[in-house]
Amino acid sequence: MAKVTLIPGDGIGPEVAEATRRAVDAVDAGIEWDVHEAGAPAIESYGTPLPDHVLESIKTNKVALKGPVTTPVGTGFRSINVALRQELDLYASVRPCRLYAGVPSRFEALDIVVVRENTEDLYEGIEFERGSKELAKLRGYLNYVHGFPIAKDAGVSVKPISITATRDIVCFAFDYAKEHRRRKVTLGHKANIMRFSDGLWLETAEKLAEDYRDVGFEAIQVDELAMWLAWHPQELDVIVLSNLYGDIISDLCAGLVGGLGVAPGMNLGHEYAVFEPTHGSAPDIAGQQMANPIAMILSAVLMLRHLGQPADADRLERAVAGVLAEGKHRTADLRPAGPPAKTDEVTDAIVAQLDAG
Ligand code: ATP
Repeated sequence: MAKVTLIPGDGIGPEVAEATRRAVDAVDAGIEWDVHEAGAPAIESYGTPLPDHVLESIKTNKVALKGPVTTPVGTGFRSINVALRQELDLYASVRPCRLYAGVPSRFEALDIVVVRENTEDLYEGIEFERGSKELAKLRGYLNYVHGFPIAKDAGVSVKPISITATRDIVCFAFDYAKEHRRRKVTLGHKANIMRFSDGLWLETAEKLAEDYRDVGFEAIQVDELAMWLAWHPQELDVIVLSNLYGDIISDLCAGLVGGLGVAPGMNLGHEYAVFEPTHGSAPDIAGQQMANPIAMILSAVLMLRHLGQPADADRLERAVAGVLAEGKHRTADLRPAGPPAKTDEVTDAIVAQLDAG
């Protein structure tokens, strides 16, 4: 029996987490849930959005299933998602974007996986505020040593890209492609403009690609990648991107396959794995039974595969696919023909498919 840390989160989190727990329990996958609060409910109970015991639980269980959590703005708490990534060294974010029959989309068959580097790049948080003393020093230094002018009214964010982090994520993408029998890995970059960051990213990846000759490899500029995704997304298979491009392109891909309500995700490190839907806490629809639970249920499918329970994962995925194909129970985000189904009704339909099959 596998023990998994379950973090319901806040906003629509508790609703979709409860739905997911019901669906996984209906598979009889032998999961023991170790439930912990994080986000808004944890602030009420413990005075912090990410109490130490939550991290301890993930470190013990190695695997977590997490709903969305909001970091309250202006309270001085650091982002919970960033904290989890850093504390657990979750360097790879993986977003499989598969189009299920019955989901409204402009395309017919899509199966793309976006692999995103999670630790550095413009999101590393190395920032200089406009008008600050620190930025004045940096401006002076850059101007004196290199003759680089930075406008007086500019703010600055720094983009570090290292060989080490690039190697980790590119190897991860190739290994993932091999393990999942995918055709090719496409690497996005902007090496022509940012020669020393994206240039290093590209050069490192091209060298590594020589060790993975059994998987196809191509490198294209990220703007061209965006064009292909809008035009012929079927051409793409596994896409590997640095942090910022990966954030944008993975939401784009989620949009191609039906939107945030059906987009699962996982954050993986060498030791720990956190499975979570791509969407945030969606406060606009929270507590109203309007949320689509499928993104989190599909995240649990990924979790079951990671736990080495492929048969259970396949069963749960088939039940979700069955409900989507049938089209009778759809939440509002999937544009149903009639009145939208409630979160619990979609879950009931998935559980009924599992009980029947
Ligand atoms: P965050 O900043 O935490 O990402 P956000 O509100 O900016 O939060 P999301 O929560 O990801 O962004 O969602 C954007 C919108 O998409 C929501 O306001 C909601 O209307 C819709 N949405 C997101 N997730 C779902 C879902 N599971 N089911 C239905 N609609 C959803």
